[in-house]
Amino acid sequence: MIEITDKVKCCGCTACFNICPQKCISMQSDTEGFLYPIVDKKQCVNCGLCEKVCPILNYKPIEEKTPAAYVIRTKNQNDLMQSTSGGFSTPLAQWFFSKGGSVWTASYDDNWNVVHREFTKDDVDFSKTRGSKYVQSYLGDTYTKIQDELKKGRWVCFIGTTCQVYGLKEFLKKDYENLITVDLVCHGTPSPKLWEKYIDFQTKKYNSRITDINFRNKTYGYHSGTMMLKFENGKKYTGSARVDYMLKSFFSEIASRPSCYNCKFKQLNRVSDYTVFDCWHMGELLGKKDDDRGYTNLLVHTDKGGELLKEIAAAYEIFQVDAEKAIALDGIMVRNSATPHKDRASFYTDLDAHEMDEHIQKYIKVTSKDRLLESIKGIAYKGGLMATLRKIKG
Ligand SMILES: Cc1cc2nc3c(=O)[nH]c(=O)nc-3n(C[C@H](O)[C@H](O)[C@H](O)COP(=O)(O)OP(=O)(O)OC[C@H]3O[C@@H](n4cnc5c(N)ncnc54)[C@H](O)[C@@H]3O)c2cc1C
Repeated sequence: MIEITDKVKCCGCTACFNICPQKCISMQSDTEGFLYPIVDKKQCVNCGLCEKVCPILNYKPIEEKTPAAYVIRTKNQNDLMQSTSGGFSTPLAQWFFSKGGSVWTASYDDNWNVVHREFTKDDVDFSKTRGSKYVQSYLGDTYTKIQDELKKGRWVCFIGTTCQVYGLKEFLKKDYENLITVDLVCHGTPSPKLWEKYIDFQTKKYNSRITDINFRNKTYGYHSGTMMLKFENGKKYTGSARVDYMLKSFFSEIASRPSCYNCKFKQLNRVSDYTVFDCWHMGELLGKKDDDRGYTNLLVHTDKGGELLKEIAAAYEIFQVDAEKAIALDGIMVRNSATPHKDRASFYTDLDAHEMDEHIQKYIKVTSKDRLLESIKGIAYKGGLMATLRKIKG
């Protein structure tokens, strides 16, 4: 039976929870706010299935072969601006909807928790899926429901972090022709508890309910993405990773799940059909001027993925590029795990002891200089100064 004694060895994918025939595994939050499987030993019949589906325990490296690589963006400007990079997922999702299929990916629930759920063609809420949410999403019984859909012969698309895709594949144990998976290159996921604390802090500060969230809003361009929150009282908040408490926690490598710092799944080849990651160097990759609206780097691992891409290509601007060049420029996280911040452990041990702002000031201080730079950002962006500085910095 699965027993997590070393937290580095559990990515929280839920494969064990979903496979258990006795339903005696529950996913329970630890003090940091990450979910781990806990077995009710009285109900357990020691069938061992939970260990057999664990993507970490059963990990086998895939033989390296260079995938086809593209730089891609949706032609729909509205969808592009709501997406983190080039908005790869929306036209892909539309193909599944046109086939009567479903797309399972991360969205928000009514309290802004990040949750995986099913989307079908009639869902008005699909826009909430666009954009990266830098928090570990709640999967629940997603894998079981996906298996039910696949067995009915319906088309299914699953989009998630690399470990979530590995977990799904281990759970399913067989290839389905009607399944397409997309994994996001990911340098780690902060805990839902930290996110909840952040939401609570902003709600109190603005004294209003949040009505919209975008972790990487493009108001100041793709290269200067900011957290953007809209409130019921009409107020709006934006803050870059320099000053925003959630983004700063994420990018400082202080808040990820323990397994993320030693991610098993970091390699060029994946079990997914597609891998996506940020494209910061479209200028070098495409020899084109960067319009700062965002492109996605896309790796295609399977023939099935290649065939589907041909079918949906008309919805995108799409350019084939050299995979190793794209990875060298933008994809350090394809093969490498992040190094934890020196205070990673105490950041979480201490989380309940402070309010959000106090906590950030203690561990990853936002300075007056940071705030000053942030306040002149809007002017610098409009005057073209930011683009010049970026060029000088290379
Ligand atoms: C936690 C996290 C860490 C990341 N780290 C890196 C990195 O280090 N380097 C890098 O190049 N790229 C990273 N990415 C990927 C990057 O942010 C973009 O997803 C990528 O550039 C594709 O952009 P897009 O506009 O094509 O995506 P979109 O078309 O906007 O689609 C994004 C898809 O990702 C899903 N998604 C969003 N948040 C989550 C989540 N928390 N869990 C599971 N699925 C989610 C959405 O539901 C949507 O389907 C990370 C993404 C996440 C979620």
